[in-house]
Amino acid sequence: MTAEKSLRTADELVAAGLVPEARRADAAAVAGRYAVAVTPAIAALIDPADAEDPVARQFLPDAAELVTLPEERADPIGDLAHSPVEGIVHRYPDRVLLKAVHVCPVYCRFCFRREMVGPEGLGTLSSEALDAAVAYVAERPEIWEVILTGGDPLVLSPRRLREILERLAAIAHVKVVRVHTRVPVVDPERVDADLTAALKASGKTVYVALHANHPREFTDAARAAIACLADAGFALVSQTVLLKGVNDDAGVLAALMRTFVENRVKPYYLHHPDLAPGTAHFRLTLAEGRALVAALRGRVSGLCQPAYILDIPGGHGKVRADSAAVEEAGDGRFRVRDFRGGTHIYPPK
Ligand code: SF4
Repeated sequence: MTAEKSLRTADELVAAGLVPEARRADAAAVAGRYAVAVTPAIAALIDPADAEDPVARQFLPDAAELVTLPEERADPIGDLAHSPVEGIVHRYPDRVLLKAVHVCPVYCRFCFRREMVGPEGLGTLSSEALDAAVAYVAERPEIWEVILTGGDPLVLSPRRLREILERLAAIAHVKVVRVHTRVPVVDPERVDADLTAALKASGKTVYVALHANHPREFTDAARAAIACLADAGFALVSQTVLLKGVNDDAGVLAALMRTFVENRVKPYYLHHPDLAPGTAHFRLTLAEGRALVAALRGRVSGLCQPAYILDIPGGHGKVRADSAAVEEAGDGRFRVRDFRGGTHIYPPK
């Protein structure tokens, strides 16, 4: 059955044939706790006959989400500890996140910001809050890069997106704008000439970081949306979350990275899954992740190699999970050195 609008409730998912009747109550309980949205493009991609469907696993609510482990946390990568003004996360000296909107076209079941996004989430920045966020960037000449994230900034209308980018145009020390999005894959029809024109409004160098986790996400429509961005002159990089039951297989990862490259997207980040609440069923151990990445190293071209990244819980920043900064500490745990030289045990006790 092809959906015409996004599916947001258990009843809509059951009616569309994506969730079996026996799982309606569980799906409703999950939807009562975390946001749910499945776009028509994703609904069409799910094979309801396949209980192991890697697309379904990413987007359909699962009763396992109702279990929160003690080490899981509402703000797993510590955004709030580094948020000097609403909408800004300033974790590293030369760059900030600008979170203008906390809405997404889909809600990924493993989302690291699942407590912040969705209809009940942190919402959209008011114009006063946007003024304060832009002023924060303008007053700090060390900020070289602004990363638009959220939520998914490409859910904003081209007019609103243009307004934000025009504000950044006036800040001479910002040279690069990076936009993190899942839209080209999950809602490809949003990518058109109006959107690409809006993205150019800053006059800065624009990178688009495309989030995709499985080669099946690259439908013809998704490929056309990505080509539209590439043809418009944006540099494209990838981000993928390493997820149990979705892409925890060297062959799938190799195919995914090749698919990015074939579509002019340079593999950039492969994220170790974060300690977001109710996501234990997606998490591999670091040892498993390191073995998968080692298998990828010899298997595909250097062009296809992403950086395997752990976001250190508590807001201590990113570390390459297969580097000398991550050492075995016994008992299945690792000692992790952050970019300031501090050490942390992962997973935390
Ligand atoms: S698109 Fe990104 S922010 Fe939105 S639900 Fe998915 S992972 Fe979270």
